[in-house]
Amino acid sequence: ATEVRLAARPQGWPTLDEFSIVDTDVPRPGPGQLLVRNLLISVDPYMRGRMSAAKSYVEPYEVGKVMQGGALGEVVESTVDSVRPGDVVLHGLGWRTHAVVDAKQVSKVDPDAAPLSAYLGVLGMTGLTAYAGLLDVAQFKEGDAVFVSGAAGAVGSVVGQLAKLKGAKRVIGSAGSDEKVRHLTEDLGFDTAFNYKQAPVTEQLMKAAPEGVDVYFDNVGGDHLEAAVEAANVHARFAICGMISTYNAAEPPPGPRNLFKIVGKRLTIRGFLVGDHAHLRERFLAEVAPLVKDGRLKHEETVVDGIRNAPQAFLDLLAGANTGKMLVRL
Ligand code: NDP
Repeated sequence: ATEVRLAARPQGWPTLDEFSIVDTDVPRPGPGQLLVRNLLISVDPYMRGRMSAAKSYVEPYEVGKVMQGGALGEVVESTVDSVRPGDVVLHGLGWRTHAVVDAKQVSKVDPDAAPLSAYLGVLGMTGLTAYAGLLDVAQFKEGDAVFVSGAAGAVGSVVGQLAKLKGAKRVIGSAGSDEKVRHLTEDLGFDTAFNYKQAPVTEQLMKAAPEGVDVYFDNVGGDHLEAAVEAANVHARFAICGMISTYNAAEPPPGPRNLFKIVGKRLTIRGFLVGDHAHLRERFLAEVAPLVKDGRLKHEETVVDGIRNAPQAFLDLLAGANTGKMLVRL
């Protein structure tokens, strides 16, 4: 078995030096436990937060210990009747080839209902984040103009497509390359998109949204949030999902300079965590799984092979090498 441990806490941008890859014995399951051979593991932006010691909504990873994260694997040994060898399960012990998990902590997935990778992306945590953030947090309604940042990523790509499918007047996305911008408009049905690296975000957004923005789904923060405040219509709603532009900052970055406009525009700005919206999971799956199955909602994945490449896959995710969900296949 092989596992990835946190070797040291990064300052600013992480590097490979902060990870160690260690070969171990295959662990043995105890009573009530399963031995799972992981097939796919997820790397996610929130893991950057867990590499730091700072107090947050999830526990920091411990230096010297194996890291954790979403994973999908095949059960090889079981000590319970409810889950059997050969079953495919979703669980929280990624960053390793073999995991011993409590049977109560896994959920079985149907490998015939959707491609396995979908359960870690469009039909999994990132898909639910998009669904809950757009519909519940931002209270999207038909006819809204929607702006989503990080639009070519796992969460953002679902936000934009869902908004479009549900009758948005206009869907605008931002992303970090011309190829991603092309992907958004040509493959995913966004009305328009821009490359935030080409020109100031406010300037590009004001052009892309001549009639303003009713819903902003924030994955990025910083200059994107400032631009969205600028472009917002009266009573616009912001779902604050993440602020990836700040995760590797060694010093707290400056805030948007135009926050006073929140008052005159009577904006609602709400942060959220997907974990608080677990009650929506069934509704989400009932609605989104058929859209995925018949191809109306597209999902891209960027898949890297091998546990030894997992740290690099994570660094590449932070740098924007992925389109759609970033996954590691074991
Ligand atoms: P993505 O698939 O979107 O991958 C991250 C992307 O962020 C990269 O591909 C890159 O794309 C973009 N990025 C990196 N640095 C910057 C920057 N400085 N400015 C703008 N974009 C940048 O990841 P996820 O879909 O998994 O996550 C998206 C966001 O949602 C993150 O902020 C994450 O923390 C948050 N999140 C929040 C959850 C919650 O419960 N609140 C749950 C899940 C995710 P590009 O090439 O376009 O720069």
